Amino acid sequence: MDCVFCKIVAGEIPADILYQDEGVIAFRDINPVAPTHLLIIPRKHVPSLAHLSEAGTSLIGDMVKVANQLAKMEGIAEGGYRLVINCGKQGGQLVPHLHIHLLGGRQLSAALG
Ligand code: 5GP
Ligand code: ZN
Repeated sequence: MDCVFCKIVAGEIPADILYQDEGVIAFRDINPVAPTHLLIIPRKHVPSLAHLSEAGTSLIGDMVKVANQLAKMEGIAEGGYRLVINCGKQGGQLVPHLHIHLLGGRQLSAALG
């Protein structure tokens, strides 16, 4: 599978991994747009939010829980932060493996797109 995030899960390419459990891993974005910019992904290859099965809704819950824990660990929970999921081409998704962006550490733009 030629998927950059699957390669990170498999340890085939390096990443600054901050969290992992049986279902979810989280690492720093290679091209951060904020002082904290982490990616939270499922270990399993799910191409996008649009490909979540019924069972997958609990996967998103697990990912959000990890994002909230990481916001605390990064010291941005009090100041506030943003979770973003881009879905598909017009949604701005470039890597076709489901991921949540966790952004914070500065005042984020009010613009949503
Ligand atoms: P998308 O546009 O798909 O929502 O976001 C993909 C994100 O993945 C981008 O913010 C990009 O910087 C990040 N990214 C792409 N390739 C790599 C990589 O090899 N390692 C890491 N850590 N992040 C990556
Ligand atoms: Zn993948």
